[in-house]
Amino acid sequence: MIGGGTSLMRPGEISLAHGGVLFLDELGEFPVPVLDALRQPLEDGQVRVVRARGSVTFPARMVLVAAMNPCPCGEGGAPGACRCTPAARLRYARRISAPLLDRFDLAIRVDRPSVEALVGEAAEESTMTVAGRVAANRLRARDRGVRVNAEIPGAALAELVPVASEAEALLERRLRDGSLSARGLHRVRRIARTLADIDGVGEVVDVGHVAEALLLRCRRDILLGGDR
Ligand SMILES: [Zn+2]
Repeated sequence: MIGGGTSLMRPGEISLAHGGVLFLDELGEFPVPVLDALRQPLEDGQVRVVRARGSVTFPARMVLVAAMNPCPCGEGGAPGACRCTPAARLRYARRISAPLLDRFDLAIRVDRPSVEALVGEAAEESTMTVAGRVAANRLRARDRGVRVNAEIPGAALAELVPVASEAEALLERRLRDGSLSARGLHRVRRIARTLADIDGVGEVVDVGHVAEALLLRCRRDILLGGDR
């Protein structure tokens, strides 16, 4: 929605990525206000720019992919592999606030590639094979009335993503011990649905897929280079 007197406002990178992928490399190097500004679009798919003369809301529904090193020097892999102190590593990881971390559905540690991978001897799945799985999953999502499972509204989750009673109990335990937020609960259900879709599991999502979705969530120890 564009109001009067706002003709000088232009969409920024977040909005220009609407409908696509926004990749932010070296996430830990971004100024904290920029990182905080990511929270709103990640939550409601739009970004609001407020100026003295008015405000504009731009659409901003995208897949955000971000990468960062586990320490400020960029050399470190495992703790002790470089000269950054544990305190320096922790300060670096804390640049990404807990509310922002909570909005990342998946996090993985990426190690340096092996020599076999670099010289092309490691057996790898082709991008075409993976693309086929993605296309099949998007068709299943379309049957649920969304483009991708990530867009299933929170209010529709109970109906569209029923989970087994054992899985409900696991989620409840995580909510009670504080390791899962209310926002995280919705996100875990959507990811679990996708994992189950990939494995061809029908209507009800089982506890295994919910546990896997919980494991894949972004946690600060992953930013610190920790293993799962
Ligand atoms: Zn370092």
